[in-house]
Amino acid sequence: MVASIRPHRDEVGLAGGLMLIGGTWMAAGSGQTWDHRHPATGEDVASFPVAAAEDVDLAVRAARRAFDEGPWPRARASERIRVLRRIADLVRSHGDELLSLQALDNSVPLTFGSVYATSSGFVADVFDHHAGWVDKLAGETLPPYQGGDHLVLTLREPAGVVGAIVPWNAPLLLAAQKVAPALAAGCTVVLKPSEYATFAVLRLAALIEEAGLPPGVLNVVTGPGDPTGEALISHPMVDKLSFTGSRATGRRIVAASADGFKRVSLELGGKSPAIVFADADVASAAAITMGTVTLGLSGQVCLAQTRALVHRDVAAEFLATAEMIGGMVSYGSPFDPAVTSSPLINTRQLDRVLGLIAEGQAAGARLVCGGTRADGDLAAGNFVMPTVFTDVSNDMSIAREEIFGPVLSVIPFSDEDEAVRIANDTEYGLAATVWTGDLKRAVRLARAIRAGTVGINGYQLEPHAAFGGYRQSGLGREGGRPAIESYTELKTVLLPFTDEMM
Ligand code: NAD
Repeated sequence: MVASIRPHRDEVGLAGGLMLIGGTWMAAGSGQTWDHRHPATGEDVASFPVAAAEDVDLAVRAARRAFDEGPWPRARASERIRVLRRIADLVRSHGDELLSLQALDNSVPLTFGSVYATSSGFVADVFDHHAGWVDKLAGETLPPYQGGDHLVLTLREPAGVVGAIVPWNAPLLLAAQKVAPALAAGCTVVLKPSEYATFAVLRLAALIEEAGLPPGVLNVVTGPGDPTGEALISHPMVDKLSFTGSRATGRRIVAASADGFKRVSLELGGKSPAIVFADADVASAAAITMGTVTLGLSGQVCLAQTRALVHRDVAAEFLATAEMIGGMVSYGSPFDPAVTSSPLINTRQLDRVLGLIAEGQAAGARLVCGGTRADGDLAAGNFVMPTVFTDVSNDMSIAREEIFGPVLSVIPFSDEDEAVRIANDTEYGLAATVWTGDLKRAVRLARAIRAGTVGINGYQLEPHAAFGGYRQSGLGREGGRPAIESYTELKTVLLPFTDEMM
């Protein structure tokens, strides 16, 4: 049996939460709550308010007031920088607590939370990074095109009230990637965490409040997509929607935004390729690729390299290492330091992953390892054994669908052109890695692959680099100048330049 999670919940002193609306922590008006079932043990560990349309309306109106009446959108740059840097400091000093809450949410192991993008240090860096943009949000001064005595100026102004919706897999990081640039730009925010990961985001909001943000600038509403998310995306007082999650919800958000033409940013899924040439360090390529699919979040990561395109000459070596890494995975309580990987978030996702594995087998892919739900002591949790398929063809559903589980599909190729063709034969375009000893080839492929980020002989997230997707992996970018600019409107000012004005 996996040890009960409840003592850890009691240790952090939280059995549930309240929403933050207009500077006040409150329950839903209806009193309705959502029970959070822990994915490693199946225990109910907490309950959170389910915000109905009336609660969301209160939150949006609070954000609207805070935007229209200030002071935040008109605050001096130095003031906004001070608050954002203080948030970063508070996140760092509460890092362990935030990671424990995240483990209560989605069961990401504490050991993994301290070394990857789920870490609190990375979350703090996102706030620091965006604090640095506040006094650099520049417009332009243009010469008058048709002559005359005037200046043409462009100004960056905050976009308004932002509805930010995030998923459950990296709740702290994904909330920070929206809240930090939105606050830096001078926007106000209504944030909706996933119903499967609410603990950590509520604590982050409390720290943001503690940093000195005026009431109503950040509001948090909790609950599922329907009714809470739906009420937020269709609220007429929201100016911009910023969403991270599945393609299906992304489509719904684009449709809802059409009414009123809300601005939209989307970070969606992926089916990212790792392309491994015969001249690569094949063992490292296999270890890191299999790591993105099995360690930490067990492949429940948008940028997981779930399609390994491997040159036929080194396929056997690649498979041997991938299988070995799969064998090193250890499941259990996220609070156990020996545990490397999480269960799937819920039983719906468990059924979906097992269904796709069965489809892969039926389509003729060869199972190298895994393929089943973990049993014995792990039977109460949503654990799937690390799974590797080989002899996969790119038209099989295991090569096309985002599985969001610990499943790697290995697709053999014979030459560079074929590798590029298979890599680009996808509806997604979030990330890719190229593994080769030939720098010229690496650069050629980095340019040929249609994906938002391409790693050469490795991959790591950078808080200051633009991150996002081509095609159905999203709209817009998070990180860097494109992120903060996406929370602004661009205004042109025509300024007469006459003697009377001087
Ligand atoms: P999801 O789309 O089911 O849910 C995401 C969020 O949207 C949740 O808060 C949910 O409550 C909310 N939601 C659901 N239906 C809604 C509706 N009708 N209206 C408004 N809100 C609604 O996604 P998920 O299962 O939580 O997350 C997994 C997905 O997220 C995967 O596809 C993954 O690739 C993607 N993801 C992308 C990135 C990225 O940066 N590109 C990062 C992490 C996860």
